[in-house]
Amino acid sequence: MEIDLTQIRPDRHHVERVYEASAFGERGQPHFRVKDPVRVSLEIAKDEDRYRVQGRATTALEVECSRCLEPFPAPIDASFDLRYLPQGDARGDDVEIADEDLSTAFYHADRLDLGQLLEEQFYLALPMKPLCREDCAGLCSECGANLNVRACGCTRTWQDPRLLGLRGLLDAGKHRP
Ligand SMILES: [Zn+2]
Ligand SMILES: [Zn+2]
Repeated sequence: MEIDLTQIRPDRHHVERVYEASAFGERGQPHFRVKDPVRVSLEIAKDEDRYRVQGRATTALEVECSRCLEPFPAPIDASFDLRYLPQGDARGDDVEIADEDLSTAFYHADRLDLGQLLEEQFYLALPMKPLCREDCAGLCSECGANLNVRACGCTRTWQDPRLLGLRGLLDAGKHRP
């Protein structure tokens, strides 16, 4: 999953590729697993030894719900705009950091690691706390049952602190003369 930069023409160069999910292997673990073929479309602009890579990648990832811990499919449509410098190039530290706020990455041996690029973009495209659905009920804090699947009958001691605060206000109101 690499792009041979020696094949990139000096003008804009368009790349369209489709990768089977299996091509990603363990990439993304433990945060996600690539489930669907990945469609990538890239515009690569060359400026001497620097490259600007603008593109879009779509696929579906399998991620774990942060609340009930069940895997679920998350559709991904990631757009990116990156600047690639040769590895070990100090210019990445200081030059044109303000330049359109591009993210800077590095290539080496005239090859751009598209697998790594996609892995990073997928990671960025995922929410910090993925939820299988907005109202995921999560796991029972007593017995660990998935409350989306069944009610377990436990008496759960945990209560939403916001509701406790509200109840306090209501109780205070009741005792008012
Ligand atoms: Zn869930
Ligand atoms: Zn329970």
